[in-house]
Amino acid sequence: MEGKLRIAGTVAESIVDGPGFRYTVFTQGCPHHCPGCHNPQTHDFDGGTEMKLSVLFADIVKNKFVRGVTLSGGEPFCQAEPLFTLAKALKEDGRHLMAFTGYTFEQLLELPDPYVQRLIGMLDLLVDGPFILAERDIELRFRGSANQRVLDVPKSLAEGAPVWAEQYR
Ligand code: SF4
Repeated sequence: MEGKLRIAGTVAESIVDGPGFRYTVFTQGCPHHCPGCHNPQTHDFDGGTEMKLSVLFADIVKNKFVRGVTLSGGEPFCQAEPLFTLAKALKEDGRHLMAFTGYTFEQLLELPDPYVQRLIGMLDLLVDGPFILAERDIELRFRGSANQRVLDVPKSLAEGAPVWAEQYR
């Protein structure tokens, strides 16, 4: 597998970044600068470390108990091309895929990078929208603020509009 990803870090066994037992990739670089962001160290596009996709993929799939992979950040969609390559291989390996983004679903569909659309097409779930401090709610599942949505991506793409994953509302 060719390509590299700039990452802030990884968590090999997470139960908080999506449904089930997951591997989480924190990408490095975020343009949104939401006030109150919990991961400000991920904002610098020159920060973090570069990791070969082949090395990252091997680290993920070595644990057969990890059913899902979460792409978090930072802003994953700023590195859509390498993440598409990784996501395609993970899908072929049967993993459930979820991503977080500070963009809304509607904004993602307008971005000019063609790999953004391709990456969306690999996902099962998408938590979209910026973190808004005034709407912060620690009771929400997978979300930091009430404006964010947990979207069923295949249904959203079929509808051409955001569709909630009702089981996580
Ligand atoms: S999108 Fe996420 S990582 Fe980026 S500033 Fe907002 S909360 Fe922080």
